[in-house]
Amino acid sequence: MTDRSNERPADARKGDRPAQVEPDVVTASETTPENIPVMRPQLPRAETLMPYLRRIDASRIYSNYGPLVQEFENRLSRHFELPAGGAVSASTGTTALIGAVLATAGRARPDRPLGLIPAFTFVATAVAIEQCGYTPYLTDVDTGTLALDPERLLADVGLDRVGVVVPVAPFGRAVPQAPWRAFRDRTGIPVVIDGAASFEGVSEAPERYLGTIPVMMSFHATKSFATGEGGGVLSTDVDLAIRTAQALNFGFHLSRDSRVASTNGKMSEFNAALGVLQLERFDAARAARQRVDAAYREALAGVRGIELIAIPDGVEPNFSYFPLLVGEEYPVSRDELYDALKKKGIFARRYFYPLLSSLAMYRDVPSADAENLPVATRAAAQILCLPIYEGLDETDQARVTSSIENVGS
Ligand SMILES: *Cc1c(COP(=O)(O)O)cnc(C)c1O
Repeated sequence: MTDRSNERPADARKGDRPAQVEPDVVTASETTPENIPVMRPQLPRAETLMPYLRRIDASRIYSNYGPLVQEFENRLSRHFELPAGGAVSASTGTTALIGAVLATAGRARPDRPLGLIPAFTFVATAVAIEQCGYTPYLTDVDTGTLALDPERLLADVGLDRVGVVVPVAPFGRAVPQAPWRAFRDRTGIPVVIDGAASFEGVSEAPERYLGTIPVMMSFHATKSFATGEGGGVLSTDVDLAIRTAQALNFGFHLSRDSRVASTNGKMSEFNAALGVLQLERFDAARAARQRVDAAYREALAGVRGIELIAIPDGVEPNFSYFPLLVGEEYPVSRDELYDALKKKGIFARRYFYPLLSSLAMYRDVPSADAENLPVATRAAAQILCLPIYEGLDETDQARVTSSIENVGS
């Protein structure tokens, strides 16, 4: 636990209007047949799962790195071309990040109490580092990538009190290792990548995105590779992977002695069974989303005021999100477009909005940017993510694009 109270004192919050918060999960009302949710998770069907459930019945092993977790981790290592032991499973992406931070940087120390994270991220990044004792230190992102820029941190940001840096992969756009290895080697500050939604991109070029800096993945139902709840940590450093598993299992390794700071973040055998099955259908699911992505690009390319966010050079495309920016030239504001779509049963999402720095728990945390996080603030105000999932058919997709084209009329 951190030394902070569970809730920030009310008088310490910036007392402006409460942030308008929408649920991050897809709600039941959005998934009625006539509605189009932002995504529609599809996990393996009961029939395909049944043989695995029978294996669990026979083994009577339900957790504690049982046979299915081991099989899943081995297959993940092979999928990402890692050495055996380089992939560690976890109960959620958030616990995976806690395990990776504890194994890499340890708990916060008094002389380095800050965990530097981008302001443009999901709240889980902040939650995880706080559970390791760090105070979130919010930093603005780069205009082109919407991610942290290590060069700018070196040039402009005070790092004296920073004990860990957690770059985030926005919209699943994977974070390359090399610039962060250089940053870590120059500063001596440990780095852990929150690659929660970057399974697709990392799969495309593991040599670029995996290395000695651990990469966390989320296997939450709403991510492109899903086991319901679940997560993982990937690294070429097998000792680091072992320390991560230890941090996720009460500090135990080869003995029942608790030797390091830890939590319980183990994946169950049931989730691991889903993971093994998902790996088999991952390519087909990705190809289906790629077709949706291509159709959006074609339909929306000429719409005035709609900016399709370019994939930065050298970044692998991924099709798990379809983010666009609603610009000044568009007839209505981003929020008006969001509401107009919602009235037609189309549930787009404004990731990451409200910005972390306007959430009740994080309004008073320190920020590295005196100018109020301009890039993150603008992105949060303009971004809209359109529905994209396996099984989004052409008619429904045309409803989305024609609603965007004709919003003013
Ligand atoms: C989804 C997500 C997480 C959290 O993962 P969970 O599996 O839901 O715990 C963390 N960071 C980012 C950027 C995410 O998108």
